[in-house]
Amino acid sequence: MSELLKGKRGLVMGVANERSIAWGIAQALHGAGAELAFTYQGEAFGKRLEPLAASVGSDFMVDVDVTDDASLDAAFEQLGARWPTIDFVVHAIAFSDKSELTGRILNTSRTNFKNSLDISCYSFIDVARRAHPLMVENGGTMLTLTYDGSQRVVPNYNVMGIAKAALESATRYLANDLGREGIRVNAISPGPMKTLAGAAIGGARKTYKHTDQNAPMGANATLEAVGGTAVYLCSDAGACTTGEIIHVDGGFHVLGMPQYENL
Ligand code: NAD
Repeated sequence: MSELLKGKRGLVMGVANERSIAWGIAQALHGAGAELAFTYQGEAFGKRLEPLAASVGSDFMVDVDVTDDASLDAAFEQLGARWPTIDFVVHAIAFSDKSELTGRILNTSRTNFKNSLDISCYSFIDVARRAHPLMVENGGTMLTLTYDGSQRVVPNYNVMGIAKAALESATRYLANDLGREGIRVNAISPGPMKTLAGAAIGGARKTYKHTDQNAPMGANATLEAVGGTAVYLCSDAGACTTGEIIHVDGGFHVLGMPQYENL
């Protein structure tokens, strides 16, 4: 265990189960010495989170639906009452109706477009506004999770690609807003991973396989590698990095065309 985050504490949002990217990040942050608080969405996810949180020494869990201002307000009130300052917040939250993560972007409904952008992008700004007062004294780090379907077309990713493009832009705007206060804002962009949210995207298995086969490193992201990147960004090792989108995808994003798939 490194001591890179000894004495630091923060909030991790978005653990649904042990395959969640947020859980990979939480384990790595804990392994580096950080103290953690968690939010979860609803009772069922709360039950799954309880033993996981306990395994990293945390009994601090709050139910938050990011579309509900009152639940966010209550969570940050509780957080502030327990810890007057925090050092990081991890936002690993996204949603689109599954029926629109397949087929043509042309069929995106206004309702799902608004909801997807609200949950997957606006919530990061909303969280940043609430986390900001807890970081003013000592500075801090805000992290979100994106995917390269924001920059290039990935079949079936559809409205989520648009939401991630907006989220990446929000990352840069927040980084500019908060930089003078010593608060850094970055996004990690893993390759496709086998999670609940990942499985909701049409043709997910093909996307995993295609990335594994073609990535320069011959392998996709792992929870450990994403966690390691989060440790770097939350620690003083990442002191001058802000507004950045860091890929953790075995180098897949540098490719101009697939290379090994049909060999
Ligand atoms: P996951 O299903 O484990 O996590 C998604 C989380 O979002 C869940 O905990 C869920 O409860 C939460 N969430 C959804 N709507 C919410 C709401 N209204 N209020 C509060 N929480 C809500 O899946 P994951 O893949 O670990 O996703 C985490 C993040 O990583 C997402 O932003 C996702 O887009 C991103 N990401 C995933 C992949 C992948 O391939 N799985 C790749 C790159 C980026």
